[in-house]
Amino acid sequence: MTAPTHTSLFPAVPDSPDAVLDGLDPEQREVATALHGPVCVLAGAGTGKTRAITHRIAYGVRAGILQPGSVLAVTFTARAAGEMRGRLRQLGAGGVQARTFHSAALRQLQYFWPRAIGGEMPRLVERKVQLVAEAGARCRIRLDRNELRDVTGEIEWCKVTQTVPEDYPAAAAKSGREVPRDPAEIAKIYTAYEQLKRDRGVIDFEDVLLLTVGVLQERPDVADTIRSQYQHFVVDEYQDVSPLQQRLLDLWLGGRDNICVVGDASQTIYSFTGATPEYLLGFRSRHPEATVVKLVRDYRSTPQVVQLANGLLSQAKGQAAQHRLELISQREPGPEPGYTEYVDEPTEAEGTARRIRELIAGGVRPSEIAILYRINAQSEVYEQALADAGVPYQLRGAERFFDRPEVREAGLLLRGAARAGAGTDPGMAGTDVPEHVRAVLGSRGWTVEAPAGSGAVRDRWESLAALVRLADDFALARPEATLSDLVAELDERASAQHAPTVEGVTLASLHAAKGLEWDAVFLVGLTEGMMPITYAKTDEQVEEERRLLYVGVTRARLHLFLSWALSRSPGGRATRKPSRFLDGLRPGSATRGTGNRFAAGGGGIERGAAAAAAAKRKRGPVRCRVCGRTLSEAGEIKLMRCEDCPSDLDEGLYERLREWRMEQARELGQPAYCVFTDKTLLAIAEVRPEGAAELSAIAGVGSRKLDKYGAEVLALCTGGEPAAAPGDEAVAEEPEK
Ligand code: ATP
Ligand code: MG
Repeated sequence: MTAPTHTSLFPAVPDSPDAVLDGLDPEQREVATALHGPVCVLAGAGTGKTRAITHRIAYGVRAGILQPGSVLAVTFTARAAGEMRGRLRQLGAGGVQARTFHSAALRQLQYFWPRAIGGEMPRLVERKVQLVAEAGARCRIRLDRNELRDVTGEIEWCKVTQTVPEDYPAAAAKSGREVPRDPAEIAKIYTAYEQLKRDRGVIDFEDVLLLTVGVLQERPDVADTIRSQYQHFVVDEYQDVSPLQQRLLDLWLGGRDNICVVGDASQTIYSFTGATPEYLLGFRSRHPEATVVKLVRDYRSTPQVVQLANGLLSQAKGQAAQHRLELISQREPGPEPGYTEYVDEPTEAEGTARRIRELIAGGVRPSEIAILYRINAQSEVYEQALADAGVPYQLRGAERFFDRPEVREAGLLLRGAARAGAGTDPGMAGTDVPEHVRAVLGSRGWTVEAPAGSGAVRDRWESLAALVRLADDFALARPEATLSDLVAELDERASAQHAPTVEGVTLASLHAAKGLEWDAVFLVGLTEGMMPITYAKTDEQVEEERRLLYVGVTRARLHLFLSWALSRSPGGRATRKPSRFLDGLRPGSATRGTGNRFAAGGGGIERGAAAAAAAKRKRGPVRCRVCGRTLSEAGEIKLMRCEDCPSDLDEGLYERLREWRMEQARELGQPAYCVFTDKTLLAIAEVRPEGAAELSAIAGVGSRKLDKYGAEVLALCTGGEPAAAPGDEAVAEEPEK
């Protein structure tokens, strides 16, 4: 989620190697031009580490010093790798491999398997946790859900730290790990798990690296082939490298020293999986001749965001904290970070969605907004709230865009059309390319307006719409190009996995947000128990949680909102407390370490929306209409019953409501979920409200919607003809605030 909003999707390729260096500051240039020998960049968030290494590779390639095929750039996530390939192409250095450790190893392993091991490569196990449960059963050890998750984590840790089962008890004690079961039991399960995999002929995610390491160690011929292909290595996010990944890197290098690493010890957030900043911090002692560069200018965030980031880190303790780098913002001042306390989670989600609508109305693109949370399970309530507010969102990582079935299918169709000559007729060239694309994709479900609904149909449309946008941009950048040229471009992008930006607010976990940036970032659910997460018990674990929050804060370019809710569900007891990490930073908290100013409108605890929602929810906790259980899941609260309690749906009414909704959506020119979501509609058809009070008690029917649709919905529910709502003209065109 970076460059595309600021620049076109097709920026001009720099016309010379030196032009690649334009736009780098002197220290970044030093990185970009140090093409031989070991290089280490130690720098804080947003200082341009990723930019510097991308330009370094591009400069080397463009100047003819590096062969594109001889460079292997390793980044942390598939998405980051996709983004780096995109940036490299824009700089005129396509063809460079940018991958995760895992995908680079997998590719090599697949290639060398027949020669080095023989036969077909085993399948990758899909449900590891299931296999661990079976391994537990083999050892007659029953694990509950949490234990299963934790024991699986321990096995993964063993593998990336290259710990064999017999050594686990001692190794876990030495590393101060919080063990979920008796270490001897875990060692037994680990052994049984490995046996089970062998029996089934499958390998797991970690095995991919372990086996690659094994082949490189034992087969000098294979190692030589790989080393002769790759001469230069670049590693981003090096603070989170695991011992196993480091071992692989060493084997790739085979004693050579053409390696460039960049990282920030303050952003170490994967220690629990065995990663360690030791390699980054010890790089200079391992390579005394290394070029070491520090970057301090933060180009990403405003001084307000940077001040909070610095404030957070100033309270950090432990080893990484000793290496913290104070950031200096290079940007114009912006708004103060906003802090909001809400009564409960659904209200927090609604408040967040409302703010997002305001930002969008103010001109911020949805793809430039992110909601970041600690654990994936937190996403649902936000998905629902965004759907209620009519805001498009995406959970999917952009890197898989070209793998989506509809995108593959569209590619095939466009190729067919190009072959049939539609794109080669000079009379149809240039401006007609977008028209062709619209015509072809129109046959596969693309329409000018987004379809109603938020499910698979909408997802499909979003993908096709992204292709249409891409075609528009392409035709603008290359007016003379034909449809065949576009198809070639798509092929190239698909092989580079450079996805166009899908318009939608991003929902992601803090871990997944690493390395990315957005104009507006919402850090939600910042309560004790969630941030730090309950199972962070030792000081080190708590410090890692603090760094995770630091990563979250430093994702924001301009707008940053932090929020928390005092109870989980409506009417619940307000037992939660805001995250300790915000003490002294948020307004009204005990210590004021950083002297943050909380200007009116920027900071301050805002209870406005929370209070309104609380008033609406005075009825207390929401209980299942069928069994009476107190509901806590957002989806169930919307339904007003447990998902698996029998439904007393009036199907005829539900159908009528759906038809009515479609009509409304068509008139508004918006997707149907902007009128009411499926869950809300279902709840209405089940409850059959007889009056406004009953209707407004249904989650998803806020005062705005009650005013706008209340009369019509009630008329449908009571069997009458939908009448125009009173004061319809006044509310029908309610401006988006
Ligand atoms: P993180 O630690 O979060 O991974 P980073 O150090 O890798 O951050 P980048 O993502 O490379 O930082 O850069 C942050 C932002 O600042 C990007 O939008 C980038 O384009 C911009 N930027 C970096 N250097 C410069 C520069 N010299 N001039 C203008 N913009 C820059
Ligand atoms: Mg980076």
